[in-house]
Amino acid sequence: MKISALRFLFTALVFLPLIPSFAEEPPAPLEILATNTIIADVARQVGGEYVRVESLLAPDTDPHSFQPAPSDVSRIVSCDALLMNGLGLEQSLATLIANSGSRAVMVELSAGLPARRLGRDYDGHHDHDHGDFDPHVWFDPNLVMLWAGKIADALAGLDSLHAGVFYDNAERYRAQLVELDAWIRAQVETIPPGRRKLVSDHDQFGYFCDRYGLESAGAVIPGFSTLSEPSARELAALEDAIRAQKVTAVFVGNTVSPVLAKRVADDTGARLITLYTGSLTSADGAAPTYLAFMRHDVATIVDALK
Ligand SMILES: [Zn+2]
Repeated sequence: MKISALRFLFTALVFLPLIPSFAEEPPAPLEILATNTIIADVARQVGGEYVRVESLLAPDTDPHSFQPAPSDVSRIVSCDALLMNGLGLEQSLATLIANSGSRAVMVELSAGLPARRLGRDYDGHHDHDHGDFDPHVWFDPNLVMLWAGKIADALAGLDSLHAGVFYDNAERYRAQLVELDAWIRAQVETIPPGRRKLVSDHDQFGYFCDRYGLESAGAVIPGFSTLSEPSARELAALEDAIRAQKVTAVFVGNTVSPVLAKRVADDTGARLITLYTGSLTSADGAAPTYLAFMRHDVATIVDALK
């Protein structure tokens, strides 16, 4: 090798790391994994262009009864942060996450929130499959505001350069949730007071009822999870309650089997109405974002009960 060639090689090796196109490569967006599509949407609102968000559960999947695929382990291991609801919602995922060895930041968005507890009504058939807390916090937008704040904290911890953007995004999203909350309140007020009663496939509208002044008249599966079955006696008691309180609609989530809810509706003459409950739809569906999901459900509930 000639001297000039050696000198060229030496020069290239010395200056290679200083070439601007290498030095100024923008950092890759954070890889955020959410357990379900509702959480994934809120994470996208807060993270904006600096995150890439995936959901473990596909759209229209029941968050209580997820069957993980082997590939889900590698998604849990390779993400920067895993965002979960907590409060017992992800029972089917808990072991998988614990055994994954993932070093991702784990955030339980609903932990520490003012959660509803299993009521006295359910003490008789409390079983170990059910959490003690009601995990369905997303039916109160005020609690989703707290999620957004927790997500901004988590993202800022991972990418301090864009912390200001995450907090600004969370604040802007909060304003949309405040607007949603006021809209829901006004919508519910159009239902005659005696008809503000909900019956659904499982006990999932507690936060919604607490916030907006509705009452739960019962649930087909009497508990916070879809992972159990009602007894014949419980179904009969629900049908009695529906008749006694003149409830006109039974609401069933898009992610669960409607068979039992349909039977209750048929037996009592109530209408069977489908809502989006545990999941968003895909982008081309009617509820691709949390805001669209809530507006769709509230409009459907109000229309059915008025
Ligand atoms: Zn549920």
